[in-house]
Amino acid sequence: MAAHKGYFGEFGGQFLPEILHATITGLEQVFETAKHDPGFWKEYETLMQNYSCRPTPLTFAENLTKYFNGAQIWVKREDLNHTGSHKLNNVMGQGLLVKRMKKTRVIAETGAGQHGVATATMAAKFGFECTIYMGEVDVLRQRPNVFWMERLGATVVPVKTGSRILKDAINEALRDWVGNMDTTHYVLGTACGAHPFPEMVTWFQSIVGIETKKQILEATGKLPDRVYACVGGGSNAMGIFSGFLKDTAVECVGIEAGGRGIATGEHATRLASPDASIGVSQGYKTFFLQDDDGQMKETHSVAAGLDYVGVSPILSHLKETGRVRFESATDAEVITALSLAVKKEGLIPALESSHAFAGAFREVSQMAPEQIIIINQSGRGDKDIFTIADALHDPKWRDYIKDKAGEYNAS
Ligand SMILES: *Cc1c(COP(=O)(O)O)cnc(C)c1O
Repeated sequence: MAAHKGYFGEFGGQFLPEILHATITGLEQVFETAKHDPGFWKEYETLMQNYSCRPTPLTFAENLTKYFNGAQIWVKREDLNHTGSHKLNNVMGQGLLVKRMKKTRVIAETGAGQHGVATATMAAKFGFECTIYMGEVDVLRQRPNVFWMERLGATVVPVKTGSRILKDAINEALRDWVGNMDTTHYVLGTACGAHPFPEMVTWFQSIVGIETKKQILEATGKLPDRVYACVGGGSNAMGIFSGFLKDTAVECVGIEAGGRGIATGEHATRLASPDASIGVSQGYKTFFLQDDDGQMKETHSVAAGLDYVGVSPILSHLKETGRVRFESATDAEVITALSLAVKKEGLIPALESSHAFAGAFREVSQMAPEQIIIINQSGRGDKDIFTIADALHDPKWRDYIKDKAGEYNAS
């Protein structure tokens, strides 16, 4: 790890209001203790086995392998977690730390809503009070997720300041934390933010990489040649890469959201485009998509979970050292890759995860049959039915939505 606490090369750090010092130090301490307590990891593993299908399978994609006629394609099935993605690994881990800190309330901010649902689920399971901050615009866009958060007992607060999206929700969540830090833990959703969050979230997600390495060795007797993961904040990528970073023969490839194409400026590609620059925001130092005055730019992706201006400081460092290669995939490539995975293999990857599939599909034909690649299917695509049906211009879906709306108008 970094020589300087919480730094990875020049990235990371802990840029927080002074008033949070005692709280964040408390969190660092409970995390350090847990890390050195084998009993804690065992408790975490057992919880995830009983509550969330761990270990998730590593599936050989035989049909896709035949179709591309290149390397063998294996898929790590994080879609089979409870609530449908790797996000539960992180929130359940933090939930165990909240218990150790004897706090009773959790807060989180969410854009697409998936992290909000995962956090509200964890809070229901552990009996914590839960408040979720969400930009007002996102509340309107993500009704199904808001519906579930509320059923799970969370209070969803629509944030009406600024552009009423994720960054505004982050500010509100920080304000809440400052006001209630004695009782409240801030559950960050990805491997970003102030130290110790990037390292801590990576640690919980490393369960993915630990399992994957064991599974591929058992199944094939070999390490993979390449591992692909999509990169939003970077937590599923860090999770699976963690299993292989020390094995320098394994190439790790992170796929970012290319949106409508890098040239259009409508994307969320921080590391695989020249459009981002180094800055400090939201508690940490990393590559941000920002203008010359440090104002965050608008980003776009067909996958709401990849649509973020910053990126894990650990991944920024791994880019600079050359250990991880970064590429991007456009919305159109992602829809094509998703359709192929569904048709050929019966897998339904989330739009986020489909970026990893798109990146892998682009390269796999050029590899040899004895080579092995692993794709991290970070989540399941059921949640994306609205976006996918639109993208595929499915007329029967449109009729269905119209009929539903008609029923409400009539009643
Ligand atoms: C949230 C989400 C992501 C993006 O977050 P990371 O921290 O980059 O992993 C990726 N895949 C799915 C399915 C998600 O829900």
